[in-house]
Amino acid sequence: MRPAVFFDRDGTVNVEVHYLSRPEQLELLPTVAQTITMLNSQGIAAVVVTNQAGIARGYFPEHRLEAVHLRLHELLAEENAKLDGVYYCPHHPTAGLGAYRKACECRKPSPGMLMAAARDLNLDLTRSLMIGDRDSDLQAGANAGCQTGLVLTGYGQETSAAINLHKVHGIGIFPTVADAVRAWLKQS
Ligand SMILES: [Mg+2]
Ligand SMILES: [Zn+2]
Repeated sequence: MRPAVFFDRDGTVNVEVHYLSRPEQLELLPTVAQTITMLNSQGIAAVVVTNQAGIARGYFPEHRLEAVHLRLHELLAEENAKLDGVYYCPHHPTAGLGAYRKACECRKPSPGMLMAAARDLNLDLTRSLMIGDRDSDLQAGANAGCQTGLVLTGYGQETSAAINLHKVHGIGIFPTVADAVRAWLKQS
């Protein structure tokens, strides 16, 4: 079993765009590609876990999300970075349409996506890190038994004012994902 770094998507890996639904809206945040390249070289899995309730709400169809994620892989490949997996939750417990209205186990802060990745990729969650810009990201990480790090990109500034890092196995608050991963590697 190997460790992983789990990344939230919007506001952590790419610039936050309200209900991003088109590939051309994707813009990688600084240090993301180089951090993933470094994880690739160290045999640490790099996995994106993202809530996409825009699907449940009928704002965009699931195949559009797949196009966005293809573009994400492309942008990273241009910088020799490779994700080991991208997991998304298309559900919403109250606002979802049809089968997408569901109190599921994948929507963060539930740990379902991290657990699924752990099964699929043979990951050791207790030696893994979850990075995100919202409290629900960190809670999902803690609920999966991972350590967590808050980044100040996306909604990170707002989150940092309210978060209790102790409650979410937090290792700190960092300007970028590179800073978070560096701190995590140093202490592990
Ligand atoms: Mg986010
Ligand atoms: Zn779900």
